[in-house]
Amino acid sequence: MIPFCREVLLWLWYISSDRLIKMGAKEQLNLDFGDKFNILPDKEKWEIISHYLIAQDPDSSRDLWLGQLKPLSLGRDKFVFTVSASFTKEWIEKHYLALLEKTAERFTGHPVKVEINVVPTDHLRTKKPKKKRKPPFGLSLNEDYTFENFVVGQSNRLAYATAKAVVERPGRKSHNPLFIHGGVGLGKTHLIQAVGNALLSTTDMDVVYMPAELFTFEYVESLKKGQMSLFRERYRNVDVWLVDDIQFIADKERTTEEFFHTFNTLYETGKQIIICSDRAPEELAPLHPRVVSRLKNGPVVSITIPDLELRLAILQKKAEGEKFNLSPEILLYIAREIKSNIRDLEGALAKLMAWSSINNAPLTLPIAEELLVDYIGKKQRIITIEDVVRTICKYFNISQRVLKGKRRDRKVSLPRQICMYLCRELTSAPVTDIARALGKTHPAVITGYNKIREELTKDRELAELVQKITSTLLANR
Ligand code: ADP
Ligand code: MG
Repeated sequence: MIPFCREVLLWLWYISSDRLIKMGAKEQLNLDFGDKFNILPDKEKWEIISHYLIAQDPDSSRDLWLGQLKPLSLGRDKFVFTVSASFTKEWIEKHYLALLEKTAERFTGHPVKVEINVVPTDHLRTKKPKKKRKPPFGLSLNEDYTFENFVVGQSNRLAYATAKAVVERPGRKSHNPLFIHGGVGLGKTHLIQAVGNALLSTTDMDVVYMPAELFTFEYVESLKKGQMSLFRERYRNVDVWLVDDIQFIADKERTTEEFFHTFNTLYETGKQIIICSDRAPEELAPLHPRVVSRLKNGPVVSITIPDLELRLAILQKKAEGEKFNLSPEILLYIAREIKSNIRDLEGALAKLMAWSSINNAPLTLPIAEELLVDYIGKKQRIITIEDVVRTICKYFNISQRVLKGKRRDRKVSLPRQICMYLCRELTSAPVTDIARALGKTHPAVITGYNKIREELTKDRELAELVQKITSTLLANR
């Protein structure tokens, strides 16, 4: 429930300003809370900051890494965190330290030094009455990510049932490896960790959970230090290997090779493997077809966008969990309007909770509508493939016939690739539909999409161009 609380607090501060209701636009929100921020308890400060950071880049695995940080003391100009392993410290320092310090400064209003200390989990756990087992290496699991806290509906039923079956009989051929895919914020990490939590508490199995990029990191480090045999040795006793966000290694050839070496060793000795990804195995270009077929040896299940019934059930469960009384009509309003992912549902509910806790007045539907209008307006209106095609053609001044035709010069191929990219990013259409609408093949769409995605990180001009077209599309919905 951490993201939930973070939203509440963030909004509490936004809303506590008299100007808020009129503010609307995100850009106008003042992130410098000055002393108001500094008097908050440490846990709440961290919830605000980490939620803010995750929301800035929801497609990365930032949520997994920042979730490993436990605030120890967040003083005026120094934030001290603990983590349970030295590689976690190393990783976070390498990728997020500067960002953490910059963000802490934005919130506190003055420079902040961030320090991360390693405190092994065993040490932290000695005070707990019941000693819980933990993964021998990899990342720690979020204890809230359990099967009990996972609400089941049409869109995730198969994934849930298969994950449950793994817990019953880990390693069994019929559900090994298990491949779970689906969009951002739909519950993949929750489910894969639920398997880990269940197996750690009911069996003696060694469960290891890691984002794929951690595998890459450890592999590269071991190569550098000449410790490859040690690297491989560690996996010898792993019974269950949980790999999250596999899409982040698909384009790294040598890591992928090592990944499949580990995969095969574990698989052939009957160890359970579960993999999560934001796309289906065959879309993990440029993975070799042989490798893709390996991933598909077991069940491939997807989690799709939740239907109204499930959205409503999740909202009800979360509201009850927070002891927040919401009228059925408001619950229905949120569930109707927020369709795309569950993290957004939690966020919307949290905004309403924040309003209620500082205004001692009943929350009515018109107030809820006003509080969520910006949120819902921004994220939820649907963009179609046709919208993207039309906007691209207009922007580049080419006809739809040319865009969908065979010309391959850059004047046409660039708009076409941007079109593929935006169709995947902004619409909920499956790749097959995009391919059909553009008169291209499935792999061609994936290649076009990947090309733009990669170039965006290097080519500033292109990034600005894509941003501009995106804004036009969003504004015209
Ligand atoms: P993903 O890994 O697919 O991006 P997460 O597993 O991180 O998504 O889920 C995002 C948030 O939504 C988490 O707080 C998670 O607990 C919650 N969530 C997702 N699916 C469900 C569900 N079916 N029931 C309850 N909470 C859910
Ligand atoms: Mg995830």
